[in-house]
Formats: sequence, structure tokens, C-alpha cells
Amino acid sequence: MLRVGLTGGIGSGKSTVAERLARLGAVVIDADRVSREVVEPGTEGLAEIVARFGTEVLDDDGALDRAAMARLVFADEEARRDLNGIVHPRVAARTSELVAETGADAVVVHDVPLLVENDYQADYHLVIVVDAPVEQRVQRLVARGLPEGNARARIEAQASEERRREAADVWLDNDGELERLHAAVDELWRERLVPFEANLRSHSP
Ligand code: ATP
Repeated sequence: MLRVGLTGGIGSGKSTVAERLARLGAVVIDADRVSREVVEPGTEGLAEIVARFGTEVLDDDGALDRAAMARLVFADEEARRDLNGIVHPRVAARTSELVAETGADAVVVHDVPLLVENDYQADYHLVIVVDAPVEQRVQRLVARGLPEGNARARIEAQASEERRREAADVWLDNDGELERLHAAVDELWRERLVPFEANLRSHSP
């Protein structure tokens, strides 16, 4: 099994790359999706959050109100630590389960927005970073409905390009047409990921 970490700043094109890799045959695990799953209504994760923070972090349907939760931990280091202490182990356990369910010859692509910020590089055989010019990212995020100031603030709060460059084994520039990005992903799959996985297997005991 080849373990690939996929990351990049907000609006860079991670999901687009992940979708393409899934079509080519990769097993994609979306870290954002898993982190939502482990605190869905009815989960132990959500029960622990309510026990710690109270029902004011729930919306009218009894689901986690992410905006309220974010406001609560924003300026409170201890609250943030507690929240992470509840969520992170569950995300890790669920991710391990998903990995265990895949075949021995799988290429597993883990889409982790904050991979570089959290220094998770060592967990992967290969780290792919998707990048795009800031102005294009802002335009894409605005087209998706995010206010411009908000988009810029989020981009600003993430890892610098320099840190991402250090972490990257593969750098994908998403600064042109979608077709170009797709072609680059197809070539990466064919020339590097599939041979790397085959090579790993032929050397495993
Ligand atoms: P987020 O961090 O918010 O999850 P992301 O890095 O996963 O974003 P995508 O969702 O893949 O980014 O792309 C952001 C938006 O830009 C999407 O609407 C996508 O369709 C569009 N997009 C991505 N790449 C291109 C491109 N090369 N040309 C035009 N639109 C693009």
C-alpha cells in the first residue's frame, strides 16, 4: 500500500486533484469529512463535546454548530486543547479503520488541508502539494460564495509557500485550465504513483 498525503492552501484545488485520483483508482480519504463524521449526532464524540462545552454548541437540530464551536475556541487555548483532545483521537481511529479496509495494493490518498501546519509529512511515503496563485484562489473562493476579505484572511492564516515547498515531494501548479491540471495528475498517477506502489510491494517481505 502506498500512502500519499495530499494538501495545499484553501482554494488551491485539492478536492479537484483528489477526485481525479479517485477516478484513476486511488482510495481517497477526506480528512474534513472524517472529522465531521466523528461528531455527527448520536456519536460519542458529540456527547463528549456537549459534556465539556454545553448545549450552546448545538444547533436547533441537535447537530454541532461549527460556527459557534469555532467562536468558543477561537480565543481560548484550553478550550481548543480540550476540543482537539476529543476530536483528534477519533479522527485517527476512524482513519486507521478506513485504511485497514483497503487492499494491500491500494494507493491511499489522504486529503489533509492542514498537513503542513500540523507537520504530518512523516506519515506518508509521498506528499503532494497543490498550489495556485493567491489571486486565482481568491477568485475561486469568491465564486464559491465566500466574501473576499474572508478568503484573504483564511489564505493568510495558513502555512507559507516556503513551508509547503519544504514538505512537498510532488508540487502541482494549478494555475491554468482544469484540463492541464487533470493531465498533470494523470501523468503523476502513471509515472510515479503506480510504479512506486508496485515497487513497494515487490520489496515487502
Ligand atoms: P478547499 O480548501 O476550500 O477545500 P480545494 O483546495 O479543495 O479547496 P477545490 O475545491 O478543488 O479546492 O477548488 C476550488 C474551486 O476552484 C472549485 O470550485 C473548483 O472547481 C475550482 N477550480 C479548481 N481548479 C480550477 C482550475 N484550474 N480552473 C478553474 N477552476 C478551478
